[in-house]
Amino acid sequence: MSEEIKEKKEKHEFQTEVKQLLDILVYSLYKNREVFLRELISNAVDALNKVHFQLLTEKDMDNKDLDLRINISFNQTQKKLIIEDTGIGMTRKELIDNIGTIAHSGAAQFLKKLSKSDSKDQMSLIGQFGVGFYSSFMVAREIRIITRSSRKKSTAYLWTSKGDKNFTLEETVKKTRGTRIELILKKEHEKDLLDKFTIKNIIDTHSKFLPFPIYVEGDKIESTEAIWTQPKASLKKEDYNHFYQFINHTKEEPETYLHLSSDAPVQFHAVIFVPKTSLEALGFIKTEPGIDLYSQKVLIQKGNKDIMPEYMRFLVGVIDSEDIPLNISRETIQNNIKIDKIRKHILKKIFEKLESIKKIDREEYLSLWEKFHRNLKEGVITDFDNRSKIAPLLLFYSSKESKDKLIDLNEYISRMEKDQKEIYYTTGHELDSLEKSPALEAFKKKDLEVLFLVDPLDEFVIEHLREFKGKSFKIAEGADIKLDDKETEEKDTDLIKDLNDFVAYLKKVYGERVEDVRLSKRLVDSPCILVHRAGGPSIQMEKVIKMSNKDYAFTKRIIEINQKNNLIKEMVRIHKASPKSGELNKLANQLLENMLLREGILEDMDGSILRLQDIMLIAAKKI
Ligand code: ADP
Repeated sequence: MSEEIKEKKEKHEFQTEVKQLLDILVYSLYKNREVFLRELISNAVDALNKVHFQLLTEKDMDNKDLDLRINISFNQTQKKLIIEDTGIGMTRKELIDNIGTIAHSGAAQFLKKLSKSDSKDQMSLIGQFGVGFYSSFMVAREIRIITRSSRKKSTAYLWTSKGDKNFTLEETVKKTRGTRIELILKKEHEKDLLDKFTIKNIIDTHSKFLPFPIYVEGDKIESTEAIWTQPKASLKKEDYNHFYQFINHTKEEPETYLHLSSDAPVQFHAVIFVPKTSLEALGFIKTEPGIDLYSQKVLIQKGNKDIMPEYMRFLVGVIDSEDIPLNISRETIQNNIKIDKIRKHILKKIFEKLESIKKIDREEYLSLWEKFHRNLKEGVITDFDNRSKIAPLLLFYSSKESKDKLIDLNEYISRMEKDQKEIYYTTGHELDSLEKSPALEAFKKKDLEVLFLVDPLDEFVIEHLREFKGKSFKIAEGADIKLDDKETEEKDTDLIKDLNDFVAYLKKVYGERVEDVRLSKRLVDSPCILVHRAGGPSIQMEKVIKMSNKDYAFTKRIIEINQKNNLIKEMVRIHKASPKSGELNKLANQLLENMLLREGILEDMDGSILRLQDIMLIAAKKI
C-alpha cells in the first residue's frame, strides 16, 4: 500500500451502545456463536438484493455484468475466514453510519435489559434480537471490512477493529463493487471455522433459503430460493421453520404460519408467520413491521409499513406480487386497488387462521392472545373495515367463570338469558375487586353474566365495537337493572315519606359532589352504589384520561341508596328523630367517600380518615 493511502488512516470511536454490545458479546457465554455467519450472510443478501434492485431501475452503474453471489473462503496461514459479496457495498459515510452505530431505536433499552439479565436469559435474548454484524466479534479477534459502493467511480475503504472501543478507516483499493469481510479468528475458533465441512453445515442449518448463489471455496451450496413461489405440497413444516429462522434472525420456531397463493383477481404469493415471542409484550420497543415486499422475486422493500395495517406489525414474512411495481411509492401501496385486494385477502386468511386455532387448540390460542391481544385490540380501534372480523377473536374475563378463564363474545351470546338484549360489562384493574363490586349484586341475583374488563384498552375496544351480533354493550353500573322483589314495592306511605326526606337530606349534604341521589332497586346487601348517567364514561376510562390531563375533573356520579341495608335503615331512623345531628352528617359524608375510595377517586383522603376516626370514637364509647 502506498504511503499516501496510509497517511489517511483515521481512528474513530464506536457509539456507546455499540461499545456496550461488544462488551456483552465478547464475554457472553452465548453458545450459538455460529449465528455470526447467518448474520453476515443475511447482510450480504440484503446488499445483493439492493444492488439487484438498482440494476433493474438505474442505468448509470459500474460493474453491471458482475454476478450476484456470495463467496466464502479461508486463509489458513493468516487464520482468516472471508465472506465476500458483490452487493451494493458501502461509501465512507455508510461505513461510519451503519457499522459504527446501532440504528435500532430500541437498542439502548435492549442493552440495559441484556446487561442486567443472567447469562441464561442473555442467551435467549441475544438469539431473539439478532445482533447483526457485531456478533462476529464472538469468534474473531479482529475484523477487516473492505468495501466499495456500487455508485459510479466510488472509492474503496478498509475498516478495521479489534472489537474494543475503536475502529480505523482508510482508503484502499478494490476493483469491483461489494463487500469483503475478513474475520481474523480467535485461537479457539481457528480449527472449527477454517473448515469447509463445518461452514457448509452452518449454512445448511441457518441459511438454507438464499435468493443468491453461495460458494464455499468454489463449491456451490445447494440452497432453496423463494420458498413462497413453490407449491405447498412440496414443502414440509421444517422448510417453513428454517425459512422463518433465516428471515427473522432467530433460532425460535414460529408459532404458526400461512402460505397463500392466488392468480386471480390479483396475482400474489405470500408466506406469513406469527412469531412465538413478542418483544413488545416483553416490554421492549414497538415492533418494526416484518413483511418484505417482492415483485417476481426481486426484493423491493424490507419491513414494509404499508401493505399490512400497523396493528399487524408483529407478522413476519414475504409478499410477492407482479402487481407491485419496482418503483412503487407509499401512496401507491396505500391506495392501489390491487394491493388493497392482496391486503384484504391476506388479512381475511389471518383472521380465519386465528379463529380456527381458537376453536381447535384453545391453549395455543391463549398463548397467542397473551402476546398479541394488544395488537388485535388496536385493530378494533383503528381498522373499521375489519372490526367485525376481529371482534370474535377477543377474549374477556367473566362473572360466570373462574378467575383464570377467558371467554369470547360468541360464548357470551350463547349463554344470554332469553330476554337479555345487552352484553353487560364492568371495568376495573383487578378481578378480585370487580367480583365484589356492589354493581354486580343484581346481576348475580338475576343470573346475568357480566364481562370483566381489566385491560384499560378494553373499554376503548367496546366503545369502538358498539355491538356484537346485534347486541349492544352496556356498562353494569349504567344498566337499567331492577330487582323486582316485593319488598321494594313499599306500600307504607309513612316509610316512603321518611325515605324521600332522607334522600332530600343527602342531596343537601352532598351538594355539587354528586349528580343525584336515588333509592336503588339494584342492590341486595351493600348500602349504596355509584352509578352512571347513561352514556357517560366509566371511572376506569376517566382515570386513563386523567393520566394524560392532570386538570381533568371526574364526571359526577349518581349515588343510589339501598333501603334494605341496616346501616341505611339506621340513618333513616336518626334523620327522622334529629335531622340536624352532627353524627348523621358524618355518616352521610363517609358513606359517599367510602364509595369514592373504592373507585380510587377520593381526593381528600386525610379529611376522610379523620372523620372515620371520629366515627370510630363514637362507636368505641358505646362498647
Ligand atoms: P442490521 O443488518 O440488522 O441492519 P448489522 O449490524 O448487521 O445490522 O449491519 C448494519 C448495517 O451495515 C446494515 O444495515 C447495512 O446497511 C450495513 N452492512 C452490513 N453488512 C453489509 C454488506 N455486506 N454490504 C453492504 N452493507 C452492509
